[in-house]
Amino acid sequence: MILGITGGKGGTGKTVLAVNIALALADLGRKVTYLDCDTDCPSAHILLSATLGKKQEVRSFIPAIDQDRCMKCGTCVAKCQFNALYMPRGKTPQTAQSLCSGCKACVLACPYGAISGSSKAIGWTYRSKKHGLELFSGKLKPSEPLSEKMVEAVKQRGFEEGRGEIFIVDTSAGAHCPVVRALEGCDRAFAVTEPTLFGESDLAAIEEVLGKLGIPHGVIVNRSTISSRKINGAALEIPYDRDMIDCYVLGVPIIRALPEHPLSRKISDFARRLLK
Ligand code: SF4
Ligand code: SF4
Repeated sequence: MILGITGGKGGTGKTVLAVNIALALADLGRKVTYLDCDTDCPSAHILLSATLGKKQEVRSFIPAIDQDRCMKCGTCVAKCQFNALYMPRGKTPQTAQSLCSGCKACVLACPYGAISGSSKAIGWTYRSKKHGLELFSGKLKPSEPLSEKMVEAVKQRGFEEGRGEIFIVDTSAGAHCPVVRALEGCDRAFAVTEPTLFGESDLAAIEEVLGKLGIPHGVIVNRSTISSRKINGAALEIPYDRDMIDCYVLGVPIIRALPEHPLSRKISDFARRLLK
């Protein structure tokens, strides 16, 4: 099972719940591999107090123009959808590296075979283990825009090296491309939200994405008691609780710190229902 945990809005406690659900599934005897696909701000390892290890560099293709072969026809410049190539008058094309997605369309388009490959580092993936969970994370290099590529790198490494029976895919907040990339291939997903106007609005956006991807999904309402707003049909409701906040501050999942706490039991029951 590949289970996506997502949420249109940031700050809803998505990763806190994803980590606790993953641990609850592990406690039920399942091998769980956790893929932290929020590569701009990975945080699952912090919540698990895990040390990121087994660092691997992630690189992305950058075109290199052969000055002797290039006939200055401009085909590659016209083909690049990201405006990453430009051609100063009378010169061979230049690359704006920060705009290049590494799609290689320019290589295929060049009629003279004048474009070969170079590459640049865009970030790193990590593998670690804590509380019986296998964790794969990614960190995008500061100022690099290729979040989607980093998400792909985390998923590729996680699925290749991970030994889980269950994979938890924790996406970043929002409904943008890196979230879509993370959710692709999930068997089912849950969108974590909160009972606020903003929460409901962003929930609608992520549910639209999940609908377009054809992923069966449900809703988890976190801090469900912070307002009188009601989000109907939630698969799990977690009331606001000071103990949950304290565990978050200390970097220990509540299911580990307080296994008999009503919230821990609620999350365990939810994990049990997931396996039915
Ligand atoms: S690899 Fe893609 S994005 Fe980069 S310069 Fe070539 S066509 Fe443009
Ligand atoms: S398509 Fe090839 S030959 Fe034409 S400008 Fe680009 S690199 Fe040069």
